[in-house]
Amino acid sequence: MPTRNRIDDFAYFTGAPLFNERLHVGRPNIGNRDGLMARINDILDSRWFTNNGRQVQEFERKLADYLGVKHCIAICNATIALEIVIRSLQLKGEVIVPSFTFVATPHSLQWQQIKPVFCDIDPSTHNIDPQHVESLINSLTTGILGVHVWGRPCPIEQLTDIARRHGLKLIFDAAHAFGCSYQGRMIGNFGDAEVFSFHATKFFNTFEGGAIATNNDDLAANIRLMKNFGFSGYDQVDFLGTNGKMTEVSAAMGLSSLESIDELMQAIRNNYQQYRRELAGIPGIHMVEYSEVDRCNHHYVVLEIDAETTGLDRDSLISLLHAENIFARRYFHPGCHRMEPYRSTDPDAGIALPHTERLTSRVLSLPTGTTVSRDDISAICKIIRLAVANGPELGDRMKRHPRQ
Ligand SMILES: *Cc1c(COP(=O)(O)O)cnc(C)c1O
Repeated sequence: MPTRNRIDDFAYFTGAPLFNERLHVGRPNIGNRDGLMARINDILDSRWFTNNGRQVQEFERKLADYLGVKHCIAICNATIALEIVIRSLQLKGEVIVPSFTFVATPHSLQWQQIKPVFCDIDPSTHNIDPQHVESLINSLTTGILGVHVWGRPCPIEQLTDIARRHGLKLIFDAAHAFGCSYQGRMIGNFGDAEVFSFHATKFFNTFEGGAIATNNDDLAANIRLMKNFGFSGYDQVDFLGTNGKMTEVSAAMGLSSLESIDELMQAIRNNYQQYRRELAGIPGIHMVEYSEVDRCNHHYVVLEIDAETTGLDRDSLISLLHAENIFARRYFHPGCHRMEPYRSTDPDAGIALPHTERLTSRVLSLPTGTTVSRDDISAICKIIRLAVANGPELGDRMKRHPRQ
């Protein structure tokens, strides 16, 4: 692979990208392909495509085993899963949620006329700040919806304590955190319920999909009815439900990914560690780190760029990388409070969210996953190193030659 030795070589100036094909963040991982095909043939032969078929039942059982949780309910996606949990727990009024998350988190509340009250983060962990949570609680608050950002558990212990003291429900959006653990227990065991996403771009996918994990028997029974229109028996509907069912093909994908999960994790961990080694010691670039004690999926290679040190701001670095066909992403940008409908409802929300505001202009995530090779990672790291070494000059030149 050609390399870049001088900033004149950058595709931003020459128009000739280093990579012929785009390297995307969140390119899907595929587990055991032959196993998947065999399962899909079984599904076709049996003509049982959905409605709690064999694949979904086996997937739910194996998920619950893997997570060490009593109930795991497969759902069509994590957004609907969040909505179902929120309704099952009868939340209303206001729920406290971080703004530094994917917009599905607050949307799942707003969709049912519950006001998401945005909370700031701890800049050192990127996760919800429990002290700020507590200060936002009022007589309308019914719950807290925490997010395990990058798969790093949010302050579960403190939030559990706050929820207990104030009589609030506690839900975790664990969309990033499948396969991660907290103090030796798998994520999925905390709060009233936790929700995983198995969207194609996540560490572990079922094309589209999600799951709700809970140790509460009554809640699980309620969720099972609610995801199936409220049907409790043939022709018998007990309450308002929706359609949250996972298809058999999705469950088959989940089962074949679950068979390869250890290799998958190892490969992604190796990518992460290579990035870490090759980006070490660059002033102004800080890489998000993961616990050495707990399990983590290493699916997010996240950099925080300090433009004052590098002389090159996050957006310029992104432009430079995009020109090379390295599709780094500005996740999460902007914060949810700057998206509709929240921006119109409360245009000044950012004043109370200084750490979120700052972080959303500093983070970017880099391509990883099973389709990114060692050479790819080395080339990406070299470009970043060269760019930062020439930060001020490069930033200046880019301003003078803005690219369309
Ligand atoms: C991906 C994601 C979701 C939504 O998951 P879907 O399965 O696509 O509905 C929710 N929250 C977070 C934090 C996510 O990253």
